[in-house]
Amino acid sequence: MTTDQSEPEHVDVLIVGAGLSGIGAACHLQEDAPGRTYAILESRGAIGGTWDLFRYPGIRSDSDMFTLGYAFRPWKDSKSIADGASIKRYIEDTAREYGVRDKIRFHHRVLSADWSTQDARWTVTARRSDTGETVRLTCSWISACSGYYRYDEGFRPTFAGEGTFTGEIVHPQHWPEDLDVTGKQVVVIGSGATAVTLVPSLADDAGHVTMLQRTPSYIMSLPGRDPLAQVLRSKLPGTLAYPIVRWKNVLLSTLLYQLSRRRPAMIKKLIRRLTQRQLPEGFDVDTHFNPPYNPWDQRLCLVPDGDLFRTLRHGKASIVTDTVARFTERGIDLESGAHLDADVIITATGLNLLPLGGMALSIDGARVDLSTTVSYKGMMISGVPNFTMVIGYTNASWTLKADLVNRYVCRLLNHLDAQGYVAATPVAPPEGADAPFLDLASGYVQRSLAELPKQGARTPWRLHQNYLRDVRLMRSGPLEDEGMTFQRPAAARSGRTAA
Ligand SMILES: Cc1cc2nc3c(=O)[nH]c(=O)nc-3n(C[C@H](O)[C@H](O)[C@H](O)COP(=O)(O)OP(=O)(O)OC[C@H]3O[C@@H](n4cnc5c(N)ncnc54)[C@H](O)[C@@H]3O)c2cc1C
Repeated sequence: MTTDQSEPEHVDVLIVGAGLSGIGAACHLQEDAPGRTYAILESRGAIGGTWDLFRYPGIRSDSDMFTLGYAFRPWKDSKSIADGASIKRYIEDTAREYGVRDKIRFHHRVLSADWSTQDARWTVTARRSDTGETVRLTCSWISACSGYYRYDEGFRPTFAGEGTFTGEIVHPQHWPEDLDVTGKQVVVIGSGATAVTLVPSLADDAGHVTMLQRTPSYIMSLPGRDPLAQVLRSKLPGTLAYPIVRWKNVLLSTLLYQLSRRRPAMIKKLIRRLTQRQLPEGFDVDTHFNPPYNPWDQRLCLVPDGDLFRTLRHGKASIVTDTVARFTERGIDLESGAHLDADVIITATGLNLLPLGGMALSIDGARVDLSTTVSYKGMMISGVPNFTMVIGYTNASWTLKADLVNRYVCRLLNHLDAQGYVAATPVAPPEGADAPFLDLASGYVQRSLAELPKQGARTPWRLHQNYLRDVRLMRSGPLEDEGMTFQRPAAARSGRTAA
């Protein structure tokens, strides 16, 4: 790959991103669609994506590693809810074991990709973050494994009076390595997965930690080590024990999600009872653990072995449900009139969604406006040929969907070759589509829905967020259906669609 050349380097498949999804995509490609040339462009200098970026104390998964791990490579660690460093190591080890590490070109941020119908290929432009050089290459297929949020900036509302606060304000996405909270009064603003992870971790050293939440979340405790996995691993080889535990967890989480949607009152009551059991007598569960929405309207928070509840029980941390009125010199004034003392304020206020890692797409020079497109099987975009985006489930582990998509791409590539096609382009449903791409009420999703593709009312345009359904659809379902068109070389040149 060089700059300013007339004939840029060509690869069959270009994978964007070397996180959990990108490394998985490369492994699948090598195993299920071998013989193709490929490269991985990664804007950072390391493998791991999310699990390399986030460095706050206690950073961990909030889903179990038997489903967050790859289907094709068992998770062997004893922890079911794993820390960030272990997950990063697992991704790195996978890359090394499958020999995909050498295919990664670090410090390459993909800026844009333009599809040429005549040539049936993409021209991709990237910028090197280490040298500033602009790099061009061509490819026949793009697999965008660029995650779903901005890496350079977390979501951070501005609070009145911030300038007067004399302590330190920290966002978890940009954690200062040398931050020392020993003996300090810490306020964590937020109630999502990051806040509930930070509170018990910081409470070990801090004087006191207060979790300040405007709106409570549903929080459930999960065993940090899977009891079934522990038994099976002592009796069966890892390759047998892993899928059994994986399927057990898929079925349990699907059951919990489906019951939450169909019988919300029952699940609400169950979560309340489980929560109350882990808190001291008289704890105000109805204020601090009673969200004004139903379970799974927003992502459910899981905590390993009830660590958050234990910290609250021991009095090392407390929860305040209130709204920030303004920051003061020594802390935070709340709308209720109360004041929270703080030496350090942590704004666990979330992420900024970024579709396709900020890549601009165009077809024959015409810019693609994602908001006018419709997603096909939750992984391709109407009107955009030979392009997949890997977006995991919002109601289950990300990798369950990523694995399905990465395998499906290989089926599709093999099908194109076998049939003599050069391109596969999804079309929008004839009746139109106007449902939002994601149906989570969470702030970070709602803030960005307008920029995302829509989803249709029926298969293959409907995003079911249901692994059991998707397994059938993606592993063995038809590749040729009413949502997909295929182009032959001559048709690619004339822009016609194969019959
Ligand atoms: C704190 C946190 C905890 C999470 N916990 C869980 C969990 O427990 N379970 C779960 O299912 N999900 C969880 N998620 C979601 C999580 O992001 C996924 O689990 C998974 O890590 C996504 O992997 P990915 O490779 O698709 O994306 P990422 O991990 O985001 O990796 C994307 C990679 O693409 C690169 N990239 C992006 N844009 C470009 C570009 N334009 N050019 C080149 N490279 C680019 C990035 O640098 C990065 O390396 C969590 C997310 C966060 C932020």
